[in-house]
Amino acid sequence: MYKKPFKYHTVKRLVKSFFLSGLLITGIYSCKNEPAIDKSNPFFSDYNTPFNVPPFEKIMAKHYMPAFEKGMAEGRSNLEKILKSKEEPTFANTVEPLDNMDPLLTKVTFVFFAQTSANTNDSLQNIEVEISPKLSEYQDEILLNQSLFKRIKSIYENQAKFNLDDEQKFILENLYKNFVRNGALLSTAEQDSLKKLNQEISVLTVNFSQNVLSETNKFKLVIDNETDLKGLPENAIAGAAELAKEDSLDGKWVFTTQKPSMLPFLTYDENSKLRTELYDAYLTRGNHNDQFDNKKILADIVSLRAKRAKLLGYKSHADLNLENRMSKKPENVFALLNQLWTPALRVAGEELKEMQKIADREGTKSKITPSDWWYYAEKLRKEKYNLDDNELRPYFKLENVREGAFAVANKLYGITFTPVTGIPLPHPDAMAFEVKEADGSHLGLLYMDFYARASKGQGAWCGGYRDHQWLNGKEITPVVSIVCNFNRPSGETPSLLSLDDVNTLFHEFGHGLQSLFSVNKYSTTFAAMDMIELPSQIMEHWATEPEVMKMYAKHYKTGEVMPDALIGKIQKSRYFNTGFDNVELLAASMLDMAYYTLEDPVNIDIEKFEKDYLSKIGLIKEIEPRYKSTYFLHIVGGYDAGYYCYTWAAVLDNDAFEAFKEKGIFDKATAESFRNNVLAPMGITDAEQSYLKFRGHEPVIEPLLKNRGLMQGVGKN
Ligand SMILES: [Zn+2]
Repeated sequence: MYKKPFKYHTVKRLVKSFFLSGLLITGIYSCKNEPAIDKSNPFFSDYNTPFNVPPFEKIMAKHYMPAFEKGMAEGRSNLEKILKSKEEPTFANTVEPLDNMDPLLTKVTFVFFAQTSANTNDSLQNIEVEISPKLSEYQDEILLNQSLFKRIKSIYENQAKFNLDDEQKFILENLYKNFVRNGALLSTAEQDSLKKLNQEISVLTVNFSQNVLSETNKFKLVIDNETDLKGLPENAIAGAAELAKEDSLDGKWVFTTQKPSMLPFLTYDENSKLRTELYDAYLTRGNHNDQFDNKKILADIVSLRAKRAKLLGYKSHADLNLENRMSKKPENVFALLNQLWTPALRVAGEELKEMQKIADREGTKSKITPSDWWYYAEKLRKEKYNLDDNELRPYFKLENVREGAFAVANKLYGITFTPVTGIPLPHPDAMAFEVKEADGSHLGLLYMDFYARASKGQGAWCGGYRDHQWLNGKEITPVVSIVCNFNRPSGETPSLLSLDDVNTLFHEFGHGLQSLFSVNKYSTTFAAMDMIELPSQIMEHWATEPEVMKMYAKHYKTGEVMPDALIGKIQKSRYFNTGFDNVELLAASMLDMAYYTLEDPVNIDIEKFEKDYLSKIGLIKEIEPRYKSTYFLHIVGGYDAGYYCYTWAAVLDNDAFEAFKEKGIFDKATAESFRNNVLAPMGITDAEQSYLKFRGHEPVIEPLLKNRGLMQGVGKN
């Protein structure tokens, strides 16, 4: 059944996200004036490529719409066949064919949304606007189809008769509930309203994210006076010169609101006025009262979702979204966030005091403002831990870090990664690797596309071009794609990562492993969203373990392994700036929940709501939430009432990593249990149960508090 491919994002960096809505129906119809099949359209024939990856170089913008249309027509016709059956509804004659009712649509959807995220252009953006409401309508035709729901309900209620296996039972139960949550029990008139709401929301979410992309690309801080670069490291200056060249501004330097460009500037540039200018440009994206303004769009989305939740019989959009997650209810989410919020504020307050001391000593700044935080935090880091990001970068050559991630996976799970050449690539920057089990059997294909470019959304994510499943007795292996926004090599210098980038790479790689290890029989899966970040966040723990750093952190010029003293400094500075990190993350998480626990579809003033709420929870004025409303992409699509999931999963990943630490971080038995109980069956088993099977007890919060330096008395080194 049609399922919007879901991309997992890192919390470290921005996001590009979409709508995942659900909606409605007008009955089944098939396309009447079907055009003759265009044989040159790559979606209409077998790919005939190595590993059956999409033939990217042959796919043109004009191929998408016909493939979408034909794919939906095919799905509608297959659905009709299921519904025509006179036999008693069974899993085999209903759920199974439903699972594979629209293979062409699945095929084109995967490619299209991966490309609009990582390699977009005006034509693709236009298609996105055109296709989104149509996909939403199509999805509604399925989810609100009365005859289909009747069949599923009958199977659900009579399941004892069918001798279903565990995966089938899990899918059936979630499928049934998913239909109910998407309006299957509503009257026809109510379903019509729901359908309309869904389409409106789907269009607004696309508008929102396209505005963010436009706003992000619009602002450029152009520097023509070299003295304004004072304090910046060489690689940041070189990167800025490259960006200027791309804009035909040779001899000047350009900085953008993309984090890889902005953060070094905020961290090192000595000109506080310019830092403020750049940060303000970042903070005000989507908030200029012009055609790219997102305030009204977000207010409408929030209001429409509240209305939709009411129609479906829920108190709020959050109540609706949380029902099938580990958290279950908004109260449980707020309880967790509050438990962290108070200590995080306390620690951030201490950090601020220490930074203010430095500023006072320098006599250049009266009071620290939000745009100063990175600058003084870096000074504090140097002073307190004698650690400079620039000292680390030479040891984090992109290729070395990538090989480090591969080596960790190899030690844990025995799997190998072999570069594949002569294979279609989604972009010339991308690379392909074949992933094999220890016994040499094929597990899947992995694309990695690392460098920032204007056609790519911000942030980092893991998506793919094909998911795992079994079809007609044959295993379909996954094609996974990891996309980041790292700096390109410049001149003789390779791409050198920051410590933060290193964590990002390991994070996305963790999502990738989970996809590669999937064992689901059907394409329909139901992963609990608050567990989705467990596989990714746990990998970040390995990234900075001393034993692991010695495997990959080698100087790009000399090949020298990172000295123990430097590794020691990284370990010592693990609590550095954690107050800030937690406060900005938690503030954004709570803001998301505040919007989506609104119980009535009111027309809110976004700016006022945000300001009042953040002041109510006591956010200090020196810190902004990690995302402000007008560019908070997570909360319009996919992570709505879901930004907290990173924190929820953090409880799990810190607790789960303890299991490895207890037995050794490369303990084979623990790794095997983690793979078999948590990673492989994700989406086809109950999340709580699978965690229990791995850990032997429920997750506890202490390891998280300890690792983030939020326990009283911890983190003072
Ligand atoms: Zn993630």
